[in-house]
Amino acid sequence: IDSMASASDLAAPTPSIKQPPPSEPLEAPVVNVEPSSGTSFLGGFLENNPYFQAGFGLMGLGVGLTVMRQGLVLGTTAVRRRMLVTLEINNKDRAYEWFLGWMANQAKSAANTSRSAPWVRSHQLSVETMIEHRKNGSSSALFKLVAGPGTHWFKYQGAWMQVKRERETRSMQLMSGVPWETVTLTTLSRDRALFPRLLSEARDLAMKGHEGKLVIHTAWGIEWKPFGQPRRKRPLQSVVLEPGVGNKIEEDVKSFLERRQWYADRGIPYRRGYLLHGPPGSGKTSFIQALAGSLSYDICLLNLSERGLADDKLNHLLSNAPERSFVLIEDVDAAFNKRVQTTEDGYQSSVTFSGFLNALDGVASGEERIIFMTTNHVEKLDPALIRPGRVDVSELIDDSSSVQAKTLFTRFYGGSEELPEDEVQRLANTLEEIVDAERKAGKRVSMAALQGLFIRNNARDALAGCRELFVTKRT
Ligand code: ADP
Repeated sequence: IDSMASASDLAAPTPSIKQPPPSEPLEAPVVNVEPSSGTSFLGGFLENNPYFQAGFGLMGLGVGLTVMRQGLVLGTTAVRRRMLVTLEINNKDRAYEWFLGWMANQAKSAANTSRSAPWVRSHQLSVETMIEHRKNGSSSALFKLVAGPGTHWFKYQGAWMQVKRERETRSMQLMSGVPWETVTLTTLSRDRALFPRLLSEARDLAMKGHEGKLVIHTAWGIEWKPFGQPRRKRPLQSVVLEPGVGNKIEEDVKSFLERRQWYADRGIPYRRGYLLHGPPGSGKTSFIQALAGSLSYDICLLNLSERGLADDKLNHLLSNAPERSFVLIEDVDAAFNKRVQTTEDGYQSSVTFSGFLNALDGVASGEERIIFMTTNHVEKLDPALIRPGRVDVSELIDDSSSVQAKTLFTRFYGGSEELPEDEVQRLANTLEEIVDAERKAGKRVSMAALQGLFIRNNARDALAGCRELFVTKRT
């Protein structure tokens, strides 16, 4: 019955939840809750809660901003990709020096013409110092200010370019110990054609500095680098050797250079060694430099006593000399007269005699290699060094002969207003006789001493003072 009663109760339209009587006070806070749904309860709660609304607003704003930022980054990357073009040059490449030199030159020429520099005045500069030590002991230093690591801007043919020079300090180039560096040029895509133009301008500028000049390279670790400013070429005829000697060496070098194929066909390493020996001041170094200049070759100056130079580096240097260059090893006797060399402060060179011979022999390669060696004491040289293949041509460059003295005299005083030509000839003949007589008496004069005398004096005084220069020499 109970159950029936409750069934009838359920069927009754009266709801089982009691509605509070209208007179009863409501419990605060009054929330209008729809009794049937929980979500709408939350919805209503959030809608009406100002704190939540603010939180959601902020969150939405944050998300929006992030999306926008991402979009912007993606957008700029895309724009950069489409609109900008970059060029990277690292310091292993020759264009690296050319470009920095070009930039430095732009700034210099702008300063000279007092216009503003085409690259925006930069606060990050680097200095490249070149110190030149001359044979007479004097030296000079030259500073070149180049763009330092950082970002720079310049305008080239109406287009703005950004230059970023970066240095990798954590890793060094193997062996040479020089840090890696890169220069990155960025400009608008449409100006991409300017890159090759700019680079060839930089190259031409670098080459122009070398035109008609002799470039001397020295070893930097295992690399060859230009040393000091390129020098003016010395005319070959200005070095006066015994008649025929200069010609003989010149012809030999030229015929060697024409026989590359001949060597290749026979599988012979394409290299040639020359030894010029004789007393100091006879023109050995001057002749080699003048010859290099006349053939448009560079000189790679190798100092076997240099600190840090060991057999392996020497080998590398000799087989990797720049193209079109003579390797010049001066005073080769001094390097190995005791087979182990020690300097005054006890430093022992790590180049061994056998290491040097090995480096001279090198591995058979198709690369051309021309080595010139000089010595004042050929008798001290180990016969192993002078054998063919290492030294193919050995030539004595001696103190002044009478003919050399006469030729040098006419070169100095001939063709000037001061003395008529026949007078110059007469004085030159007298000098020739003096030199002949002195040589017969066992006395010699070096060409360097004669040159010094001619520089300081006029023709007649030079002739009057020349006898004092002769010295007795052991022959
Ligand atoms: P070396 O290498 O034989 O010691 P250098 O070539 O260094 O001699 O010459 C030293 C100086 O003497 C140079 O300034 C050079 O001009 C001058 N000199 C030496 N020999 C000659 C020569 N045969 N003809 C012209 N100048 C010479």
